[in-house]
Amino acid sequence: MTARILDGRALADKLRSELRAARVSLGDRPIRLVSLEVGHNPAAKVYLRGQRRAAEDVGIELVEEHLPQDAALATVLGRITQLNDDQSVAGILVQRPLPPSIEAREVQGAIKRHKDVEGMNPSNMGAILYHEPALAPCTASAALRLIQESGIDLAGAEAVVVGHSEIVGKPIAMFLLHHLSTVTVCHVKTRNLAEHTRRADILVVAVGKAGLVTGRMIKPGAVVIDIGINTAADGSVVGDVEYASSAEIAGWITPVPGGVGPVTVAMLMRNTLRAAGLNV
Ligand code: NAP
Repeated sequence: MTARILDGRALADKLRSELRAARVSLGDRPIRLVSLEVGHNPAAKVYLRGQRRAAEDVGIELVEEHLPQDAALATVLGRITQLNDDQSVAGILVQRPLPPSIEAREVQGAIKRHKDVEGMNPSNMGAILYHEPALAPCTASAALRLIQESGIDLAGAEAVVVGHSEIVGKPIAMFLLHHLSTVTVCHVKTRNLAEHTRRADILVVAVGKAGLVTGRMIKPGAVVIDIGINTAADGSVVGDVEYASSAEIAGWITPVPGGVGPVTVAMLMRNTLRAAGLNV
């Protein structure tokens, strides 16, 4: 079998055009998304470029703010408080990585729940348990949307999530559970990873280790969502799933790049419109 590709760029285009159409109902009112960066990071620059393009496409004004690398936590939190209180700001986005002295969770927790467009504030994370997140984590939402694009019936499907981070693994596991998949979450202490992955009708991998999953670990016909972003020895960007061997076995697969990444950015734009009051 040769897997069909779950094309994240095409899906993101479609999602952005839906968002653009919905945004019209807000008229000329500016929708402002503030991106806060502490220090200067080349990786953040790449993400920011994609976010800016998507924002312009949807009709969102992305405002870049920078604080110095040695900014104190109190300074960062102080700026977040001002942005929370600023009626002209719909959403607040914190670029990562943050300097080691700044605890990401503390910063995210300081953002007002309804401006937390990354969906990582503890109260938005908690709402996932109740199946009612207004603003859900973008990458997990993107992964779910890509799985749904495959047309697989989630109810009763064996779903295996590799990686249990707060930002990706745990929320996607919860989303799949809400859709009544039978969910297994694997992590660094999982004894025989392949034994689990080979059972999966839906396999989501979010670890950050190139080649962790190979074709031999995949159930024929499975939907494979590769969230990992790694730099290969030749400088190219690869996922956690060995693409060539896996695409021969899977039914559907996301490429890296061009899979989860662009849809994640579209979800960020969706959350921003939601933060601005739209029901999208
Ligand atoms: P993270 O916080 O480092 O979490 C990685 C997870 O993988 C942890 O739960 C870890 O378990 C687990 N793990 C480590 N080694 C493992 C192994 N050998 N077998 C099974 N599980 C293992 O990373 P993250 O933020 O979730 O990101 C994961 C990857 O997704 C990264 O490559 C990141 O760049 C990428 N990412 C992509 C997007 C996108 O939009 N495409 C967005 C976010 C992240 P322990 O904690 O127990 O060690």
